[in-house]
Amino acid sequence: MQSQSIVIVGGGFAGTTLAGALDGKLPAGCELVLVSEESYTTFHPMLPEALGASVFPEQVVAPIRAMLARARFIMGRVTALDPVRRTLACTTVAGDITLPYTQLVLAFGNRARLDLLPGLAKHALPLKTVGDAVHIRNVVLRRLARIELEDDACARRRLGRFIVLGGGFSGVECAGELADCLRGIRRYYPRVREDELSITLLHDLPRLLPELPQALGAAARRSLTERGVDVRTGVRAARVCAAGVWLADGAFVAGATVVCTIGTQPNALAARASLPLERGRIVVDADLAVRGTPGVWAIGDCAYARNAHDASIAPPTAQFAVAQARTLARNLLAMLAGRPTRAFAHRSRGAMAALGHRRGVANVLGIPLTGFAAWLVWRAYYLSRMPTLGRKLRIFVEWTWGMFFPSDITHLRFTRSVEIETSGSEQKAGFLL
Ligand SMILES: Cc1cc2nc3c(=O)[nH]c(=O)nc-3n(C[C@H](O)[C@H](O)[C@H](O)COP(=O)(O)OP(=O)(O)OC[C@H]3O[C@@H](n4cnc5c(N)ncnc54)[C@H](O)[C@@H]3O)c2cc1C
Repeated sequence: MQSQSIVIVGGGFAGTTLAGALDGKLPAGCELVLVSEESYTTFHPMLPEALGASVFPEQVVAPIRAMLARARFIMGRVTALDPVRRTLACTTVAGDITLPYTQLVLAFGNRARLDLLPGLAKHALPLKTVGDAVHIRNVVLRRLARIELEDDACARRRLGRFIVLGGGFSGVECAGELADCLRGIRRYYPRVREDELSITLLHDLPRLLPELPQALGAAARRSLTERGVDVRTGVRAARVCAAGVWLADGAFVAGATVVCTIGTQPNALAARASLPLERGRIVVDADLAVRGTPGVWAIGDCAYARNAHDASIAPPTAQFAVAQARTLARNLLAMLAGRPTRAFAHRSRGAMAALGHRRGVANVLGIPLTGFAAWLVWRAYYLSRMPTLGRKLRIFVEWTWGMFFPSDITHLRFTRSVEIETSGSEQKAGFLL
């Protein structure tokens, strides 16, 4: 029987880094448990590449069990926390369970926000999960398949227009991937003309990638424009409808497909847990302990943490989630050994974005990189984060192979045998989706 247990909620960048850093290092009698709603961790920054079909969906996830040696993994969704009794309620494949904890780490990230604009939830496609990426990819393939069969010129034009909302990392990555994907796969749709396909990127700030130096934002814009993306900065989307996006200045941008990369909202669990919140994120002290809540810590996107390096609030990025996890691992080990904890302090190592096949921009340790070099650094970083040597090797070979071939155009519908013989109207609805 274990006398103490550290429970981590969330198997994303923060939770898995923390679990990896503590696994096998805890004193005897202290169990480590990681609870997450999926059996894998998602490499969100690579989702646009899965959307653009330059990598397969299974290459942007990593199985959590393969990352752990001694720690216990429970696949389940935490539905409630009780910081007084030190328990959490969790729904699992085996039903509802109650888990006791001695120390609890909240690393459950945030969710996509779909109520930011009228019509967004109904007409736009969010990009936050692997399921979102695969869905968008299938929608793109269905649009091309429909244009092939469509005779009405207006309908063809509408179907061929794609709009990306947001000019941050995920927005520019999506637009770049879409541009390369459409160019690469058009050859398989001989009735679709090049001038019938277009991508418009809408961004409310004056320049793309505000997190990167101005020159890199400009390089990203050049790279997208060269590939035919209509980049519009300084424009605010006001409403989304089935035919496109209305802008705040009254202008209308037509397009049948709107991919949304803007807006996140707090995980509902944060509000339900009655913890101190600031803009929906859990307020933590300098050492990442949740303010006024003994035995509870928070890291990653769900935490409102001040960076002691420059007194700023840590941004919701993978880099900061990983850095906080490393600090917290040291702090938990220090606390268990009766030593003082330390404040979270992290100096950013830079940022990078992939802009499509073999193109990127990066600012690594102050060194600006563009094009293939930036893209290689980007891929190398995410490859280094894959668990186990076998998986790294397999993905390296598949990525290298994929560099020399066009995007995959398989439209996977996951239709089960029992669903094939549906009624005519059901089939029609499925095809038109
Ligand atoms: C499309 C996209 C592109 C991005 N690009 C970049 C980039 O280029 N660079 C960068 O630094 N950052 C990027 N980010 C942000 C980055 O992915 C996040 O900052 C990072 O994932 C945060 O890690 P986290 O562990 O806090 O949260 P997450 O990675 O979101 O992990 C949270 C985990 O908690 C689980 N969970 C949630 N609720 C529960 C519950 N109730 N019970 C159990 N488990 C739960 C989730 O399933 C998930 O596994 C991007 C994000 C997106 C969506």
